[in-house]
Amino acid sequence: LGMLKNGWVLASETTALDLIEAEFLRELEAGEMVVIDETGLHASQPFPPTRLGRCIFEHVYFAKPDSVLFGTSVYETRKEMGRQLAKEQPAPGADLVIAVPDSGVPAAIGYAQASGIPYDVGLIRSHYVGRTFIEPQQSIRHFGVKLKLSAVRQVLKGKRVVVVDDSIVRGTTSRKIVKMLKAAGALEVHLRISSPPTQWPCFYGIDTPSRQELIASSHSVEEISRYVTADTLGYISLEGLGTAVGDRERSTFCTACFSGQYLTGKLNPGVSPASESAPKLAIA
Ligand code: SF4
Repeated sequence: LGMLKNGWVLASETTALDLIEAEFLRELEAGEMVVIDETGLHASQPFPPTRLGRCIFEHVYFAKPDSVLFGTSVYETRKEMGRQLAKEQPAPGADLVIAVPDSGVPAAIGYAQASGIPYDVGLIRSHYVGRTFIEPQQSIRHFGVKLKLSAVRQVLKGKRVVVVDDSIVRGTTSRKIVKMLKAAGALEVHLRISSPPTQWPCFYGIDTPSRQELIASSHSVEEISRYVTADTLGYISLEGLGTAVGDRERSTFCTACFSGQYLTGKLNPGVSPASESAPKLAIA
């Protein structure tokens, strides 16, 4: 909730308020209803209080890094994820840390800070194409990755590279990126992911693929590493992600796409978070 000179303004992220030079006042509470009319702003809580279920993926990927979300800076939280990732999944002997731009940048900076490995720009993102994993068709996704990123040969040639990304969904994007880095001369590619394996679909409004399409639902970290052709692959743990968002806050988040623990229990016929095992994808 923000304020303009002559009125109120509501947006899903604080960055939108910055754009129109509105003053950020506060976040709406879960379940809070706000009505704005000619008499002013009226806030109420029409529902009984329940456990909070803030989307942790907002901090991992969806929110813009310059936003303040759930009371904390998205940028600082992502950097903290990178620091935590470096502690849990080190890459001894690596020459440099690069990010998959743009969403992997803060975590890569955090990884570099905590590991002492220099940060550099090894991938450049074109800003003329959209995010890839919500594109519906495989062919469009592949084309999207090709258009969207290019490798900086001068930075990568002959280097052992740590590449930090925010998540692996189907694995196709990561595989293209690793191959692109090696084609640009990287000697080794160590892929580090600032969220735990994405194993479960979201039923709360985020357009994620079905469980069968999520590579981590049916493959081990080693298998995914082989598929994406990385020399090593390491994810942050769910515990580590909780530490990054703030120990005090961790119980207020939804983590269902990593843990399978849906806050609202069994959501769909045929989807039982506790027991469903996804059919194995052929990824060879
Ligand atoms: S399932 Fe994942 S994406 Fe959906 S609300 Fe929960 S944390 Fe967010």
